[in-house]
Amino acid sequence: KRASREYRDHESSVVIVPTPNGDVAIGENHPLAIAAGPCSVETEEMIVETAMRVKAAGAQFLRGGAYKPRTSPYAFQGHGESALSLLAAARAASGLGIITEVMDTADIDKIVEVADVLQIGARNMQNFALLKQVGKQSKPVLLKRGLAATIDDWLMAAEYILAEGNPNVILCERGIRTFDREYTRNTIDMAAIPVLRKLTHLPIMIDPSHGTGWSEFVPSMSLAAIAAGTDSLMIEVHPNPKKALSDGPQSLTFDDFERLMVKIKNLETAM
Ligand code: PEP
Ligand code: MN
Repeated sequence: KRASREYRDHESSVVIVPTPNGDVAIGENHPLAIAAGPCSVETEEMIVETAMRVKAAGAQFLRGGAYKPRTSPYAFQGHGESALSLLAAARAASGLGIITEVMDTADIDKIVEVADVLQIGARNMQNFALLKQVGKQSKPVLLKRGLAATIDDWLMAAEYILAEGNPNVILCERGIRTFDREYTRNTIDMAAIPVLRKLTHLPIMIDPSHGTGWSEFVPSMSLAAIAAGTDSLMIEVHPNPKKALSDGPQSLTFDDFERLMVKIKNLETAM
């Protein structure tokens, strides 16, 4: 299998993402890469301000959804195509690489114009038509783990992308369904980090925001993921989480994010 460690002779692969600020390497033995930003792109002002603040705190990527996979069809679905130009403005202002979700094969051509990394959301992890199409693209793909996907299901989903010729896949753990949703939205599978490291050469990202569902748990899980060996983190940050159009409860404020980045840097130097 293309994702297996044996396929690359037990050498980890590194995904190099060209961004306006320069190439960012994501993989084992490279500096921790950080993606931060709102769940949804809301306005130009908020996305540009968020980009500048997370960049100043040390992030390399701005995340933000234009097309949102909401559980309810009545919930905010993202601003769609108009949000792509807001992401382009934030990219131009900050130089950060852009990570944004692709939900439909019909949108890929528009999204690759602005995105540096194409995100496949948890709910589309086994949308094989979509996986094949992003597999034909030259942009790296961030493949989130399905809500109830086993590690093998997830690695097979990665195979769909790799088999089409795109070798640049990053695996993102974002929490899975377990029996208790009282205190956390999902159960973040920290053991996935060493398990993936054993099974695959692909780079690993952890999303403690969706992984816990609550901003107060994001710092501890971010640090735990670094200690466990993650290659990168994706963290939801919003200028005013209480007013966010999606995922406010799990979003950090700019101040929270700055404090977390100090802790992350301290942990990295200690390791
Ligand atoms: C997101 O990143 O905002 C998102 C919708 O994530 P997931 O697909 O993991 O639920
Ligand atoms: Mn979200």
